[in-house]
Formats: sequence, structure tokens, C-alpha cells
Amino acid sequence: TEEHTDLIIVGAGLFGLTVAQQAAENGYHVHIIDVREHIGGNAYSYFDKETGIEVHKYGAHLFHTSNQRVWDYVNRFTSFTNYVHRVYATHDGEVYPMPINLGTINQFFHAAYTPAQAEALINEQAGEYANVEPQNLNDQGIKLIGKPLYEAFIKNYTAKQWQTDPEKLPASIIRRLPVRFTYNNRYFRDTYEGLPTDGYTRWFERMIDNPNIEVTLSTDFFDASQELSKANLRGSVPIVYTGPIDRYFGSQLGDLHWRTVDFKEHRYDEVNHLGTPVMNYVDADVPFTRSIEFKNFNPERTEVAEQKRTIVWDEYSRFASKDDEPYYPINTAEDRERFAQYKAMEDAEPNVVFGGRLGGYAYFDMHQTINSALIAWEKQVKPLLK
Ligand code: FAD
Ligand code: UDP
Repeated sequence: TEEHTDLIIVGAGLFGLTVAQQAAENGYHVHIIDVREHIGGNAYSYFDKETGIEVHKYGAHLFHTSNQRVWDYVNRFTSFTNYVHRVYATHDGEVYPMPINLGTINQFFHAAYTPAQAEALINEQAGEYANVEPQNLNDQGIKLIGKPLYEAFIKNYTAKQWQTDPEKLPASIIRRLPVRFTYNNRYFRDTYEGLPTDGYTRWFERMIDNPNIEVTLSTDFFDASQELSKANLRGSVPIVYTGPIDRYFGSQLGDLHWRTVDFKEHRYDEVNHLGTPVMNYVDADVPFTRSIEFKNFNPERTEVAEQKRTIVWDEYSRFASKDDEPYYPINTAEDRERFAQYKAMEDAEPNVVFGGRLGGYAYFDMHQTINSALIAWEKQVKPLLK
């Protein structure tokens, strides 16, 4: 069927699905391949057979955006629950609200500061960092919350999560988290937030429910022995590639560095084990970064939520080696330089559009991935199609 395919998409994650949906809606025939046995990329979820609990296979995924266009777009395929993300953190045998807010500050200092008093204190505790333009995560963290809070809540958690000196990590990682001098402990600051009512995978299935879209799973683009491979397709049909950019070029300039996560599952005969969806463990003595209790993401599914059985995953973070799933770009200065060199190699591939978290070596959330895919469709992919 190759002669009828206008566009090949490598990767059935949100970038690939969005481009496929746009192309199909415009009358083009699209063939998506993915090396995994399911669509949805890292945002894929399944309903656990024993309990009916929706499990996010690659780690907790919370949808949030302030982008009206993205919000309108995703609502074509799913409605969202009114879930609002909140996180707690265990430090030194005590549980605090996260991200850092007036509740965290007052609990930590055993105080009753007003917003203005807390802000003045933090500024004082930021010391010499208060007035510098932060170039890395360490400086940015101390500037935002001062040294004592940084050392309690950020330093060890970041060491566990990134295994990289915070002075080598980009400041943007920590700017993802709000810091508030009020008791507002919402994790995100976006206008819209929620979870797909029927689960992530139903949402994604509806995106590609179009006769113009064909999907082939369990198929590796770099396996030259199969028809839908780089070796067979390069130069003959436009391609959207959403796998790791270094792999596309055979890692010839060296590897980009990624972080991966491992999960350890526990099942309990309890209605609730953590009492909240996510508990961060910010101290060095707990080897994992956080625990996730999946049923607490969907309290509206009352029967599932109220049963005396629950699933908790502990999340361990480590460097990704060649055989691991790449999850988070580490993005040291050296990585960024190497990425720029790979980017320059794209010029030799006029028929290929690179995108998504892996193709763009970027720490994109779902809404950013969708937004960039909508733009790539208009600006880069459509002009390649006849
Ligand atoms: P992916 O989802 O990674 O999809 C790429 C696809 O390409 C994969 O399915 C892969 O199998 C396939 N592929 C790669 N190589 C090949 C090959 N050689 N041949 C065939 N197929 C190939 N975002 C949020 O908005 N909120 C969150 O709470 C959130 N939490 C996250 C937690 C974790 C642990 C992670 C890792 C990410 C999280 N994200 C979150 C980000 C979200 O997962 C991404 O924005 C989104 O999945 C990116 O989509 P993508 O299509 O770019 O990449
Ligand atoms: N972070 C931290 N302590 C926490 C939560 C977050 O130090 O309790 C830091 C850590 O460096 C992390 C970053 O803030 O990488 C961004 O947090 P986020 O929850 O956005 O990370 P993600 O969900 O993407 O893993």
C-alpha cells in the first residue's frame, strides 16, 4: 500500500498523533509506525485487569495548559475531569505541601508569617543569589526559596532525579514549579487542567479514528529488514520522525544524554495507601523520588476509588543507557551543543520533519508537544505534501 501513502509518521506519541490527525483531516493518507505495541507514546495508560484502576504506564501524566488553541483542540477528542493536581512532600519525618507555598514555609520555620514577611525572609535567605541572573538550577533554586528551603526540598530530590550537579542543569527545570507566598498549593498555574474522562488511550484512539490513518505497531524504523524502515523509505516519501534525534543519525556525533525511570509496584488491601495521588520523598535516605497512587487521580470513578485494593508505584530515576527508554533530556551545556550539531544535520534530510520530545531533545509537556505539532503541521509538513 506504499504508493497510496502520502506521509509516514514514526512514533504514535502525541506529536505523531497530532500531525496524523491534521493530515488525515486534510485528506492525506497517513501511515504511523511505532516500535511499541501500543499508541500514545509516554502518555499511554491502561486499565489494570484486577482492579480497574487506570495506570499510566510510563509515569503519572497530568494534563494542563493555558493555550486556548490547544485546549479547544484536545476537547474535540475527549472531555476532562475536574482533577486539580496537588503534591505533598515527606521531609525529615514530616509531610509538607508542595510546591513551596506559605503553608510549606510556615510549617518549616514553625512560624505564622504573613505573605510579605515570608517573602522578606526568603529574600534574605537567598543571600548573594537574590540579585544575580541565575544560570543554572542551583542558583535559580536558591534565588527562588532561599538556602534552607532549597537544601531541604530541592537539593536532594534533584540529586536523586537527575544525578547531575545542579550547577550543570538548566535553571528552566526548576522554574517549572511555582513558588507562592499564599496558601495556594496548586501544582500548576495553568488556566485549564484535568484528566481525560475515559482515560488517555480512549482520547488517543479518537484522534486517529479516520479511514485515512493506518497504524502499524511493534515495528522499528531502524530495522532495515522490514518494509516501513528508514532504509526503505528515506527519500521516497515525506517522513515525520519523533524518535531520538541522535539515533536517526546513527549516533555518529556521540550520544545525547537522557534520564529514564523505573517503577516498583505495590498492591495493598487498603482503600487508600498514600491518601493523595503523589508523595515526593525529598530526602537522600529514601532511594526513590516519589510514589504515585493511581486511583487518587480519578476520585470520580467512585466504585474503583472506594474498593479495598490499591496500586502504588515508587519511581526511581537513573541515567538511560542504550537499551533504556529515554524519558527526560538532561540538557547539560555539552548536550545542547551536540544537539545543535545534530540539528544542523537535518538540512541533509529535506523530506524529514523532526519533532516531539525525543526528536527535539526538549522537556515538553503534553500541551507543548501538541502545540508544536500543530505548528509543525502547518509550517513544515503540509508544504512537503502534494
Ligand atoms: P513520545 O510520547 O515519547 O512518543 C514517541 C514515540 O516514538 C514512542 O511511542 C516511541 O516508541 C516511538 N519511537 C521511538 N523510536 C522509534 C523507532 N525507531 N521506530 C518506531 N517508533 C519509535 N506531560 C504533561 O503534560 N504532564 C505530565 O504530567 C507529564 N508527565 C510526564 C512524566 C514522565 C515520566 C514523562 C517521561 C513525561 C511526562 N510528560 C508529561 C511529557 C509527555 O510524556 C510528553 O510531552 C509527550 O508524551 C511527548 O510526546 P511525543 O510524541 O513527543 O513523544
Ligand atoms: N523538584 C524538587 N523537589 C520536589 C519537586 C520538584 O527538587 O519536591 C525539582 C526537581 O529538580 C524536578 C523539578 O523540580 O526535576 C521539576 O519538577 P516537576 O515536578 O515538574 O518534575 P517532573 O514531573 O517533570 O519529573
